Amino acid sequence: MQKITLITGGSRGIGRATAFYLAEKGHHIGIGYHSNQDQALEVIEIIRRRIGGKAIAIQADIADEKQVVELFQRIDAELGCITGLVNNAGILKPQASIEQLTAHRLNDIFTTNVVGSFLCAREAVKRMSFRHGGHGGSIVNVSSAASRLGSPHEYIDYAASKGAIDTLTIGLSLEVADQGIRVNAVRPGFIYTNMHSDGGEPNRVDRVKNSLPMKRGGQPKEVAQAIA
Ligand code: NAP
Repeated sequence: MQKITLITGGSRGIGRATAFYLAEKGHHIGIGYHSNQDQALEVIEIIRRRIGGKAIAIQADIADEKQVVELFQRIDAELGCITGLVNNAGILKPQASIEQLTAHRLNDIFTTNVVGSFLCAREAVKRMSFRHGGHGGSIVNVSSAASRLGSPHEYIDYAASKGAIDTLTIGLSLEVADQGIRVNAVRPGFIYTNMHSDGGEPNRVDRVKNSLPMKRGGQPKEVAQAIA
């Protein structure tokens, strides 16, 4: 059966590397992105021309339920019924301690990272599960090592949102195991992507790398391999 995989946050970083890796393995790829249309179009162009694969890019804010529903409807119409979801899109905010956290910031983090991932998982289950006439599939949630480290004085809000992703993974995996759907999580450590610029420290990985067992940060492709 042709594998059809949706990767949220596929325009950059880990999602982009995963799109390339899975396209090379023969998956038809749908990538979701938020605002970087140029980079999203570049990803699908590379898949089409250099890899010879099939790919489409769809703009959708995963924090918005209507946009999530429309994202999946467009994948249905343009690629077919998905067999895989990589719940990868996520955000963090500038480094801060608890005294600086506002409800506005917390709502942004949790709506995107947690609610967005739940909504995408819901739409995937509606298409993959036997009880809805589907043929099974696989969901990979991209969590973070932050969920067990807590990220003190950096972003405990982000870390807590990834804790929720870990619990979603456990609960949903048990809920849909008899529906032919596997649900797993990958918890990357410190990976070279632009996400650290959003946290206000573009060179964060280089700052911490000597404290890591391998004395180096990770590359997006290494995470892509784990996701695959
Ligand atoms: P990144 O380079 O900042 O890319 C984030 C991606 O998510 C982009 O494609 C972005 O789209 C998309 N996105 C952001 N908000 C969105 C929204 N509301 N709706 C739809 N898409 C949205 O991030 P990354 O480092 O590759 O991280 C990918 C995942 O890995 C995240 O879940 C992150 O928490 C996790 N992770 C990363 C690290 C690390 O060290 N980098 C470590 C552990 C876990 P646009 O390009 O359009 O903005």
